This record gives sequence, C-alpha cells and structure tokens, in this order.
Amino acid sequence: MAEIRIENLRHSYMASPQSDEDYALKRLSLTWQDGGAYALLGPSGCGKTTLLNLISGLLTPTEGTIRFNGRDVSRASPEERNIAQVFQFPVIYDTMTVYDNLAFPLRNRGVAESDVKARVTEIADMLELTKTLSKRAAGLTADGKQKISLGRGLVRSDVNVIMFDEPLTVIDPHLKWQLRSKLKELHLKTKRTMIYVTHDQTEALTFADQVVVMNLGEVVQSGTPVDLFEKPQHTFVGHFIGSPGMNVLPAEVRAGQALFNGQPIAADNAAVASGNGRVEIGVRPEFVSVASSGIPAEVVRVSDAGRYRIVETRSHGNTIKLLLKEGEAVPEGKMHLSFDPTHTQIYENGWLAGSRR
Ligand code: ATP
Repeated sequence: MAEIRIENLRHSYMASPQSDEDYALKRLSLTWQDGGAYALLGPSGCGKTTLLNLISGLLTPTEGTIRFNGRDVSRASPEERNIAQVFQFPVIYDTMTVYDNLAFPLRNRGVAESDVKARVTEIADMLELTKTLSKRAAGLTADGKQKISLGRGLVRSDVNVIMFDEPLTVIDPHLKWQLRSKLKELHLKTKRTMIYVTHDQTEALTFADQVVVMNLGEVVQSGTPVDLFEKPQHTFVGHFIGSPGMNVLPAEVRAGQALFNGQPIAADNAAVASGNGRVEIGVRPEFVSVASSGIPAEVVRVSDAGRYRIVETRSHGNTIKLLLKEGEAVPEGKMHLSFDPTHTQIYENGWLAGSRR
C-alpha cells in the first residue's frame, strides 16, 4: 500500500491551454496517507474521473507530480503503478465461475495455487460469496456481479491503492446500503489505501474518513465528514453537502460586525472578515431556530422528511430553511428566527472568511 502525494497537478485536454478555463483540473496538491479511506465527491464534470485517470496512469498530467511512497510515478504506465480499480459496471468473466473470477488477478501474476485458494476463500467470505464460488458468474444478479468486481479489486495484497469509480451505480437502491457498509467494513479489516469516487454525498460520507470535495476542476475542501458539515470552506460545500443544504444569505460586515438587512447577526468568524467583495452569511438549517425576537420571517412551505420537517421561510426576500423535530409546532404567519452563533459563518466571494486561501 502507498501514501499518494499529489503536487501542483494540472491537466488540460487541449494541446496548448491558455487560461485556467482550459484546464479540466485546475491545480491540485494533496496527500493521501497509506491505509486511509478517501472519497472524491463532486457534481458531474467537476474533474473526478480526470483525477482518477491521472492517478491510475491512463492520463499523463499537463503539469505537476504524483508520488507513490515518494517515488515519482507521473509518467509511469498503469501496470507499473500497480493499482486495482473497480468501475461503475461489473468487469467480470461471465463464463468463468465466481472462484475463477476472483482467482484471475492472482493467477495472472503467477501466485502459487495454494496462496490463491487461501486468498480467494478469505475474500469470498468477507463478501459473502462463499456459497456461489462454484457457480458461473453469468447466473448472478447485478449486485452479485459487482461484489465479484469488488472482490477482484481486493484480492491482491500487493496493490498500492484500490480505486472505486461510482461502484454502486448499478446496484438496486435497497441493496446499496448493504454494499456500502460492506465496503466500509472491508476497509477496516484490510486497511488498504482506498479512494472512492462518487457524486453521492451519502456514499462519500459513510465510506470515507476524509472527503475531497471538487467543483469546476478544483478542490474546494478536503476534510472529515464533520468538517464538511460544521465548517464548509466554501458556500458550494455548504450547498452540496447536507439535506437540505446550508442557507446562504447576502450580508455586510462593518467593523467586525455581520449584518443581514441591517440587523446585527453574531457569527463565529465575523472578527476576521474583511467585509470586501461579495459577503454572505452561511448557516445550516440544523442551526436555525424559531425565536421570540430576531430575524423576521414568514413560513411559506413545510415538507415532511421522516424524522423531521423542513420549514421554508422568507425573510426580506431571502429563503431561510430550518428543521423542526417531530412533534414541534410549526409557527403560523409572521415569526422570528435566530441563528446559533457558533455555527454561523461569514463567506467572502464564496470562501470562508479568515480561511487561508
Ligand atoms: P462525471 O461524474 O460525469 O464522470 P467527472 O467529475 O468525472 O464527471 P470529468 O469526466 O473528469 O468529470 O470531466 C472534467 C471536464 O473535462 C469536463 O468539462 C469534461 O467535459 C472534460 N473532459 C473529460 N474527458 C475529456 C476528454 N477526453 N476530452 C476533452 N474533454 C474532456
């Protein structure tokens, strides 16, 4: 397994890129520790596959370096990089048995048959495929086949990293959570470096210890699921993570005091805000509550989300959402709202004020 260090990586699909817009991956530096569980999360077209292909060696970067355990592999072939990859759609041999499918990556590298047997038995057990080992892969359901793909990714113990590219896309929704928790369990058992690519926040947040959020070819935040929830570095992360996403309201900062429509709002980082550029207040619906005084608002819609209700209000022409637990009364007509100051942040030109960008 390997530590992966990415330094000033840029990639353009154009022959002679001129401006930042010409780069599918604008500039990226990060380190993935040996044995960590990482997710690469972002909307379609943000550059996830480009980054994955740069790491696996299917693409050569326009600029920058990729190191595995300190060794520069930026221009090494995929074979030299020794990576296991699991794709959206199962990559298996239908005519072979489940056993032979799992054994294939090992036999291909000349591993002794006794070691193949031990390894395949172990992996099949982890993935609950033991009963199907002698069956032909063709007869399995889509999730059974994808389990074989996962097994083929996990079976070799000598790979530097295992990369999963949207591996649960073809899985039935009711089985997704099973495979998701299985993957997490497999990481805990095997302690391999794993990178999981997805546009689905639930998959990313449940699998990874560290999530890298990408937008428009750049990393907007790399952090733990708690970091992303409690302190989004960018309003994009606030919107993209959470259901519903963070409220983002136009604001001003004067002498270290945040104002929303001229009304003072206590915010965690107001003292370090410059007040320049586009200033916004970010507060998640979880940290907005009904109050006897404060920000005037009016309820416009209430929707049921199972254990809680999402209340959409309007205040000075802005939408502010809050959550009410089951049994809590929905206020009628005009009302007031307050924000939890420790979870209320100022953003300047999209970025968290005072962050080091
Ligand atoms: P998705 O989730 O839809 O796969 P993604 O986050 O993986 O999206 P990429 O596929 O890496 O995003 O694409 C990033 C950008 O690079 C997009 O603007 C895309 O149009 C562009 N792009 C991707 N592959 C190529 C290519 N072979 N040639 C030219 N442009 C490309």
